[in-house]
Amino acid sequence: MKIGVLALQGAFREHAAVLRRLGAEVVEVRLPEQLDGLDGLVIPGGESTTMMRLMGLYGLDDAIRDFDAPIFGTCAGMIVLDRERLGLIDVGVERNAFGRQVASFEAPLAIDGEEKPFTGVFIRAPWIVDAGPEVAILAEVEGHPVLARQGRILVASFHPELTDDTRVHERFLELVREEQGVRA
Ligand code: GLN
Repeated sequence: MKIGVLALQGAFREHAAVLRRLGAEVVEVRLPEQLDGLDGLVIPGGESTTMMRLMGLYGLDDAIRDFDAPIFGTCAGMIVLDRERLGLIDVGVERNAFGRQVASFEAPLAIDGEEKPFTGVFIRAPWIVDAGPEVAILAEVEGHPVLARQGRILVASFHPELTDDTRVHERFLELVREEQGVRA
């Protein structure tokens, strides 16, 4: 399985390490043509405004809109996939939603379909304020959605690449496998 990690800015190395640990071949993506032949793409956390600007500069915004395999966005990566930006998932998000006082924290998450809680690492994280009918909410913090899926798009407010728990990345790779089955 060949998975791209958008490597313009932010926590891309940590995602690459987890994906390699799970047996994927990882490609760091900095140019549109590097999306060719990928089975999936991860958009990491970082700073969404900077990431959008850099994507625009390299033509990666349009290229990612045209990319048709599964995409997993974490934190800033979730923000750039939302309705207002790349428009690949039908959600509206609020940036830095947890406020300055609690900019960074960890919280045990009950993820839909998982028996044991997952430790969510939140760093100036967004949450979903509004989700369309096609969006499945998979985890919440105090009633605010922080993990969601719409078809081949998975988004998380938190940073699963900063823990040793690989379950969220495994779910993404399952999604990639399912999608390969559909496309085969
Ligand atoms: N606060 C950042 C933003 O709005 C996201 C933070 C993160 O990715 N850890 O883009």
